[in-house]
Order: sequence, then C-alpha cells, then structure tokens
Amino acid sequence: MTDRYQDFVSSPLGRLLVKNLGLPNPVKLERYAAGSPLVTGTVAVGGSGRLVDQLPGVLKALDIESTEAPDPAHRYKGLVFDATGLTDPTQLVALRNYFGPLMRSLETCSRLVVVGTPPEQVKGAERIAQRALEGFTRSLGKEVGRGGTAQLLYVTEGAESAVGSTLGFLLSPKSAYVSGQVIRVGTTAKEPAETSDWQRPLAGKVALVTGAARGIGEQIARVLARDGATVVGVDVPQAADDLIRLTKELDGDYLTLDITAQDAPKRIAQHLSQAHGGVDVVVHNAGITRDKKLANMDEARWSSVLGVNLVAPERITDELLAQKLIHDNGRIIGVASIAGIAGNLGQTNYAASKAGVIGFVDALASTLKKGITVNAVAPGFIETKMTAAMPFASREVGRRLNAMSQAGLPVDVAETVAWYADPASTAVNGNVVRVCGQMMLGA
Ligand code: NAD
Repeated sequence: MTDRYQDFVSSPLGRLLVKNLGLPNPVKLERYAAGSPLVTGTVAVGGSGRLVDQLPGVLKALDIESTEAPDPAHRYKGLVFDATGLTDPTQLVALRNYFGPLMRSLETCSRLVVVGTPPEQVKGAERIAQRALEGFTRSLGKEVGRGGTAQLLYVTEGAESAVGSTLGFLLSPKSAYVSGQVIRVGTTAKEPAETSDWQRPLAGKVALVTGAARGIGEQIARVLARDGATVVGVDVPQAADDLIRLTKELDGDYLTLDITAQDAPKRIAQHLSQAHGGVDVVVHNAGITRDKKLANMDEARWSSVLGVNLVAPERITDELLAQKLIHDNGRIIGVASIAGIAGNLGQTNYAASKAGVIGFVDALASTLKKGITVNAVAPGFIETKMTAAMPFASREVGRRLNAMSQAGLPVDVAETVAWYADPASTAVNGNVVRVCGQMMLGA
C-alpha cells in the first residue's frame, strides 16, 4: 500500500509545509538490493576497549571500507564506537567527544553503533557506565534523522570475534527499519560456529517458514532463498495457490497444513526428515489476530490466536528438537510483535500470545545445545494486508509514531530474520529485536 503522505512531503509544496509547520518528514529509506555491497560509503571506527583494534579487520572481511581517523569535513555512512573501555561514568564524555563533531558529517540513512559490555557481567562504576550507554544510544536513534539508525551492541567478554554477521546487518540497509535496539552477542556461545560468505550465507541450508504464502512470511521466504537457502513454505490449504507459486519461483518446497492441527508437528517433522534430511532454520511466522475487548472476547477468539501464534510454534519446536531434526548450528526464530511489549486495546489475546513468544525465546535460549539458537523479531507497524485493513486514522497514527515517521516493509522483518539465520550468528542467542523504526510505544 502506498504512503500518500510520504509521497506528498517529497513534492515542493510538501517540503515547504514540512519546513514551516514542523510536520513529520519521512525520508525514503535505503534498502538492500541483492548483489550490492553491504555499505556504500565509509564507516569510521573509534573508541577504546576490547574491540577497537579488530573492528577494521571485521569490516574488511565484509568488504566494508573503514577509517580510524575520521575527519568532520568528510561524509560517513556509519560510525562504530567501542565503549567497552569505559569503566566509570565520568568517562562517558568520550561519547559526546566522538559522536558530537561527526553528527553533521553523516550521509542519509547512516548507521551508528555503540559497542559495550553487558552491564550484568560487570560491577560497580563500570556497570553504571555500561548501563548508561542504553539511554545515550536510544536518544541518538531519535536524533540522527534522515533515515539514520543507532543501536547498542553488548558484546560478552570473549565474543569479540563473533560480531561480524551482526555488524554486517546493522551497518547495511538490511537494518533499514531497526533502530534504538539493544542487542546482546555472546551470552551463550562466544564464537561463530561457522564463518560464512556474507553474500550467500545460507547456501546448502534448509529453512522452514510458516505462513509463507503472503505478507511478511512471503518476504522471509524470498530473502532466505536469496541468501542461498532451500525454503520449505508452510501455509493453510486455502492459501495453496499462492504458496505453490512462490515456492516454485524460489526453487523450494511446500507443505499445506494448519499448524494448529493435532498432527501438524509430526507431519512437518516427517516431511523435513524424508524430503530434506532435517532442517537448519525454523521461522515461526504464521500468525492471526481476532481483536475484541476482553469483555466481549469469546473463547474461540482467545484460543485460536493463542493456538496459532504461541502453542503451535512451541509444539512444532518441541517435536523437531525431540526428533533431533534441527541440525547443529540450527536456528529457531519467532515472530513476536510490539503489541506483546506495549499491549494494545482489543488485543489481550494477541498481546498475550506475542509476549508468550518472547517467553518462548527466554525459556529456550539457555537450554539449546550444539550451536542452535533461538531469537525473535518484534515488528512494529508493517505495511501488509493486515495493516491495510485498519481504519484510516489508526493507520496514520501507527505509521507516524516512530523515529522514521513511516511504516516498515515486510522485507525489513525478513532481513532481520536472515541475520539471525546466518550460520555466523551462533553467538546471537536469546534476543528479541524490534523492527519498528524506533516506535514510541513500548519503548
Ligand atoms: P498475514 O495475515 O498477511 O499472513 C499470515 C500468513 O499466515 C497467511 O498466509 C496465513 O494463511 C498464514 N496462517 C495463518 N494461520 C495459519 C495456520 N493455522 N496454519 C498455517 N498458516 C497459517 O500476516 P502478516 O502481516 O504477514 O504477519 C506475519 C506475522 O507477523 C504474524 O505472526 C503477525 O502476528 C506478525 N506481525 C505482523 C505485523 C504487521 O504490522 N503486519 C506486526 C507485528 C507482528
């Protein structure tokens, strides 16, 4: 669906009104095109700590050009600041001293990344300083403007060499609609289990995507196939035409079933085992809404939403793990929602199911072995058939109430899923990253 307001503000009259009335000014976000470099432009690297010396090498392996001596007279596509060396709040001024002079030297859709140590892993003044990075980075996300983003990357000691896939995602247009996020690397595994070719990281891997016939699931299937995976799409029999067309185009495979059916986990397991010898990436994307205020919520609305969004992913995961069908270094990826974080009127059922997806990640993350990880995305307002059906006023509010003043696209969620899916993202476990343009709700 087109965003007419965004089209209008890029016209001469629109630009004039935005300037004089202080209206939201959504810029056209850059998105990744297959075959392009990850970053077009230079990334400046600075700070002091455990990572700064190796960051240029990490970026070079991703074909990203970097400099350690930025000049405010030049333009930068990204800034990465190692703040792991800050052990006392008085040293936080280093953030101001580094970012301040460079804020006017940023290109559009720039990428700012602060790297810190997880506060819970250090003590005293260092803990205070590291915790302070969160407020700084989230504010930076709201200030950077012109389609820029800012993230905080907490890297556990010993996991310094495992940040490549995450920096590749955060510095590239793949993270177009991800901002103000706090991401943890190395909480469980400290090393990437596999190094991957960033252009086709999923070559030779099998990816199961539920709800793949349309919307966000379709884009997840497309992006994982672009990255080299054989995609097995799952959807209800009513969506078979779209599902078959898509999986044929992607040279993949499909299975039509209702994921809430009693025998669905066994049928999925059997299909993956017989046709593909197991699975590497499992994306629980299928989801439904059945909104009503709780006073009017019948049991069918409650149970169907909880059944599709939460119980089915849990049962399917249990079955695949029990049958050992998820290969070593496999990936389990949930799709939560901002509603599961902030709550939403008329969505007690949906928000419970999506908060439950976050609980599913928390519960599973520390129990998985052999490099298998579990993470989730929490989309904000994404342009799909689901959001196109909303009343005009709520749709407009949903679109503008974020730092980008616009809705995200299904591909933005898909790229985040692909980052988790990368075989080099083994140290990324137990995260819930919002794909919401830094939405003001639930912040
Ligand atoms: P959509 O309705 O466009 O697509 C959902 C797909 O899941 C459909 O193809 C549908 O047939 C399939 N599906 C539903 N029930 C199923 C079942 N029982 N068995 C098998 N397949 C089933 O929705 P979407 O907007 O693409 O959303 C995808 C996911 O993203 C959902 O989990 C949704 O809750 C979540 N999400 C979406 C938004 C948004 O703004 N669109 C925001 C937050 C979260």
